[in-house]
This record gives sequence, C-alpha cells and structure tokens, in this order.
Amino acid sequence: MTSPEPHRSSGSSPPPPSAAFDAALRSGRGVGPSTAAVHAGEARQKLADAITDPIVSASTYTFSDTRAILDFIEQDLPREEYGRYGNPGERVVEAKLAALDGGEMAVLFSTGMAALVGVLMAHLSAGEEVVFFDQCYHRSREFCRRHLTRFGVGFREVKTGDYDAMEAAISPRTKMVVSESPTNPHLSIVDCGRFADIGRRHGVLTLIDATLCTPYNHRPLADGVDLVLHSATKYLGGHNDLLAGVVIGSREKLEPVRNLRGIMGGINSPHNCYLLERGLKTLALRMERHNANGLAVARFLEAHPRVERVYYPGLESHPYHTVATESMRGYGGLVTFLVKDADWQQTSRVVDAARILRIGPSLGGVESLIEQPLVMSYWNYSPAERQTFGIGDNMIRLALGIEDTADLIADLGRALER
Ligand SMILES: *Cc1c(COP(=O)(O)O)cnc(C)c1O
Repeated sequence: MTSPEPHRSSGSSPPPPSAAFDAALRSGRGVGPSTAAVHAGEARQKLADAITDPIVSASTYTFSDTRAILDFIEQDLPREEYGRYGNPGERVVEAKLAALDGGEMAVLFSTGMAALVGVLMAHLSAGEEVVFFDQCYHRSREFCRRHLTRFGVGFREVKTGDYDAMEAAISPRTKMVVSESPTNPHLSIVDCGRFADIGRRHGVLTLIDATLCTPYNHRPLADGVDLVLHSATKYLGGHNDLLAGVVIGSREKLEPVRNLRGIMGGINSPHNCYLLERGLKTLALRMERHNANGLAVARFLEAHPRVERVYYPGLESHPYHTVATESMRGYGGLVTFLVKDADWQQTSRVVDAARILRIGPSLGGVESLIEQPLVMSYWNYSPAERQTFGIGDNMIRLALGIEDTADLIADLGRALER
C-alpha cells in the first residue's frame, strides 16, 4: 500500500512513491526472487491493457516518414527497426533476466551455445587467450579447441577448483577466464568471489556459466564476476519446450556482444521469447522443488546398498559442500551417481528400468530425466579421454524435475533392484 502523495506546486516534482516503487519492481530491486520472477522487466500497463505481454510477430517495423528514420539513427531512439536487432518481447525477457541476476543488461541468444560463442567472439581477438576450468560442457570445449584456435585465439584448460593453476595459466595474452558452476556432471562448485578476484588482479574478464544454479540459487555477479551466462533452455525456460541462451553483465561489456549478435543473427523468435517469459514466472517455485527433489534423492541414493558414490553438493560427502553451502540458496536438481560393481551394460539396465524418469539429454525441465553420460555424451571419446573427464562406465546422471519426491525415489528404487 502506498500513501497518497502530498501535492507539490513548484518546479519539477519528484516522482510519486508509487512510480518509484513501480520502477524498483521493474528492475527487481527490493523484492524477493519469486516477486521478481513474476513482475521484473515488465511494464505495468501493456498493449490493450492485457496483463500478459503481446507476441509481436513482425520481422520489420515501419517509420512514418524519412525524418523518423533520421531521428532514430541520430538520436538512438528506443524503438524497433528490424527483427534481427531485437523485438519487443525480447526486450521484456532480457530486462527480466538482467533483474533476476542483478545485472545492468542481458543479451538473449537462440541457444546457450550461441550465447557462449557470441561472448567469446565479441571479446577475444587473434593472439589472445582464454583459460577454462576443465569440467565444462563438452561442446564449449569443442568450440574453443576446434574453432577459436582457427582464428588464432589460444585455449588452455586447468583443473577445476585449482585456483593457483588458473592464476599460473594467465599470461599477458590472456583476455578471459571461464568456468561453469556447478559443473556437469560432477557438480563441482566454484568460489566465485575468489574467481572474480583472480580476474580483477590480472585485468582479465571473468565469465561464469551458471546454467545449473540459476539466479535463484546463486548470483555470481554479486561476487564480482564480470559476466554470467545461462543456457535458458534448461531451468530458466523450465519446460523442455524451448531453446535459448543469455549473457548478463554491465552495459560496457555487453554492447559489443549485442552488436555482434545483430550480425551473427542468433536471435529468438517473438514466440520463443514469450515462452521464456512465461517459463520464468515460475522460476522460484520450480527451483524450490528441484532443490528439494535433488537433496532427497541424493540422500536416498547415498544410503542405497547398490550405489557406490553420489555427487551432490548438498551432501556432506561432496568435496565442494562447504563452498556450496556458503554461497547457494539450494543445490539444484542434478544428481550424479555410480552404480556399485556395475559395467556399462548393467548400468544401462538401471537407466532403462526407470519409468517416471525419462531417458534423454538436457536438464532443468519439469520432467525428470535420466542418462548415462558414457552413452549420451561421451560414446565417441576414447577410454583415456573419458578417464580424463572423469566419465565412468557406471555413472548415471539424473536431472530431477518437479514431480513428487516419493514417486521419484520409488521409481529409482525399483530401477536399482533390477
Ligand atoms: C546445455 C548447456 C549449454 C548449452 O546450451 P544450449 O541451450 O543447449 O545451446 C551450455 N552450458 C551448460 C552448462 C549447459 O548445461
């Protein structure tokens, strides 16, 4: 409730408290994560007074006359021009994503990989280098190894969590350091404050792929990290029905990324932007259930006689439990485990026996998924490479959805008895 504003007569009057509140709500300031997920980034009154944003399915936008074009160019007016440079729904969802992560600006891409490629291409030039913590999405590594190097950009990897090695790998050519947190499938957690500090001391950009934690569980920008990236295909969209990616940070660091996106064209259709906006409304609600299911299933598996080891940052046995507990609101919906005394075929039988958990790649949707990383992502890698990446034959990764915890545990219990 806002009290009525006393009438002021002279000069430029300050905005009434209700307008100030609306502005804060729009940027997600002063409200909790659930309220921000529902309201941030959105105008209070929308087209046709609808409560939801319109889907403007135009590829081009018209000008009333030549003067209007010149005004747009010369004054950088906030309006649309051509679909590759943006659309109204995209602006809303970008503002919501920036607000949720506490960043000044967000740039939305058609996929998480397009976002990663876009940010690396925008900030790295021939002769420069990028250093990664080595537990990373295999396609991110592949892009750096196979493609960035073709353009004369050096790529180095150091062991995840080894901050001294990261620092030692930084040379005068290093422009950027990158990590995921949590990592996939081992769910290692990066101390983002320490990571940001390394970047600051050496004058290099820091980027965290925070797909697995989402801004609900952790906001790396608050720790001083320069850029945060998400595959919005996962928890942000949340319903296994869209692909998108986003980079969030300061305007200064993101303007070059936005400009390059306008050329590369890895943008989202207006309909896809709306699906993402709609998915984001329930982000906090969904994450609470993903977190609860993750912890309950991890505890169930850790106590199960047919399980050799469980990787889940919420378990006291996890090597990154302390940093996770200090920095995260919850531990997420991914749980990785090793089946005791099982070869790869016996492990596949556990996967195949699950009924509620469906077999598939990806994560972060309402439907629970189960997969064997050896088969799903590393089948074409040599045994030596798999060992380097820590992908065991008896490893299973769960991406828990929002079903009832008891049903998921019963399903896994039955599968493990096979
Ligand atoms: C899925 C994923 C990506 C790639 O995102 P897409 O939307 O599939 O392109 C990048 N990083 C992480 C951590 C992911 O899980």
